[in-house]
Amino acid sequence: MSMDAVVYKGAHEVAVEEVDELEIEHPNDVVIDITTTCICGSDLHMYEGRTAAEPGIIFGHENMGTVTEVGDAVSSLEEGDRVVVPFNVACGFCENCENGYTGFCTNVNPGFAGGAYGYVAMGPYKSGQAEKLRIPYADFNSLKLPEGDKHEDAFALLADIFPLSATACATSLSHEPLARFLTASNSKPNRSLTTERPLTRRQTSRT
Ligand SMILES: [Zn+2]
Ligand SMILES: [Zn+2]
Repeated sequence: MSMDAVVYKGAHEVAVEEVDELEIEHPNDVVIDITTTCICGSDLHMYEGRTAAEPGIIFGHENMGTVTEVGDAVSSLEEGDRVVVPFNVACGFCENCENGYTGFCTNVNPGFAGGAYGYVAMGPYKSGQAEKLRIPYADFNSLKLPEGDKHEDAFALLADIFPLSATACATSLSHEPLARFLTASNSKPNRSLTTERPLTRRQTSRT
């Protein structure tokens, strides 16, 4: 079986291609039909050739959809459930996850702390700019949503953008030099956002 996906071909080049359809690989997995996926500013780092991304990566780490297959060990989800999925992949039970640092999970990316969907150096996880997505450790990595298709665009923000922004605010308030900078530059919002980004990316992973 195959599905369509957005495949990275090289700097400034992506293509919609047929790839192997994702399926259950572990009893803790579910597979979803993607209903909404976002293009993130972080995708542009790969797209514009600023990373070591190899051709073949499927983009898309801000994903939501409907569960179509459920692994035997999954206890909280069933076929038809509507879920939104955090951009990062985490086990939920390693020491870092237990302490809230799910962005540094030690079980999802051998030799490295932290994994994510479709991102260079963040593990082997295929991504959501495709027809289907496999969610590992699905009980931990899926947020169940109300049935139906209302507020699709708003719920999609929960995958990355809203927690990123919320953590940016919390970080700004607790980081005195940064707070001073943001206060001084609050008439230049674009400059503030650009300056926040490298800090908040790391901090967001720790929420
Ligand atoms: Zn993103
Ligand atoms: Zn973990």
